[in-house]
Amino acid sequence: MRIFDPHVHMTSRTTDDYEAMHAVGVRALVEPAFWLGQPRTNVGSFLDYFDGLVGWERFRAAQFGIAHHCAIALNPEEANDPRCVEVLDHLPRYLVKDGVVAVGEVGYDSMTPEEDAAFARQLERAVVHELPVLVHTPHRDMPAGTRRTLDVVRESGIPPERVLVDHLNETTVRLVADSGCWMGFSIYPDTKMDEARMVALLAEHGTDRVLVNSAADWGRSDPLKTRSTGLAMLGAGFDETEVDTVLWRNPVRFYGRSGRLLLDPATAGATDTATGNSVVRGER
Ligand SMILES: [Zn+2]
Repeated sequence: MRIFDPHVHMTSRTTDDYEAMHAVGVRALVEPAFWLGQPRTNVGSFLDYFDGLVGWERFRAAQFGIAHHCAIALNPEEANDPRCVEVLDHLPRYLVKDGVVAVGEVGYDSMTPEEDAAFARQLERAVVHELPVLVHTPHRDMPAGTRRTLDVVRESGIPPERVLVDHLNETTVRLVADSGCWMGFSIYPDTKMDEARMVALLAEHGTDRVLVNSAADWGRSDPLKTRSTGLAMLGAGFDETEVDTVLWRNPVRFYGRSGRLLLDPATAGATDTATGNSVVRGER
């Protein structure tokens, strides 16, 4: 089974995770920029983080045979903090870099006017740079949040096939299916979605425009949930091609629109050192 995790926050994971992911077939991933839990107090804090995503984390993943790509954005949570919003002025220079395959995560957290402004501005950037967009949907009142999200996407003029609306479940999948956007599902140990519900949704809606991710971060989550969903699909009678469509071909098709996927880790940052820092133990 070959796996492309289209949404996973490796900055908050360990080398054990990278090893375990590679062992079960993960060969590529996208790490979207997000909230780090500890609020940022200034724009420089974002820039160092973005540099880490395009440089250090990509290098680290390559040591484990995994091609790392990222999405860059001001996340919805911190769009509400006036100390952070200025980072939007710095996005253009990141959105032209190798390894940056989308704008994201953008979208709504609490659906404030500040979030509206940051969301619309970043969709505009995606239009200008002709990049895909990864859109986070709010945890509370999901159907209303998803409806409003899709309205804003429509108003932006971005083609729906360049938009991935993430963290869906049974209450929101139909809205997004009808919009023409791609549908993302985060498989979590106890919230969002689990493997059995995901398989039932796939049986009902098919595999077209569907992406499955682990969305693993610093909270209780599991970067091997992509693989366990693939196994659950096989157990329910899906064939290997259908599993490959969901876990590999669909993410490649979606992020491939950036023109920047580098699926061979050897060409995707597997140099000996990153800014002078070698993590290749014993090979200094
Ligand atoms: Zn995320």
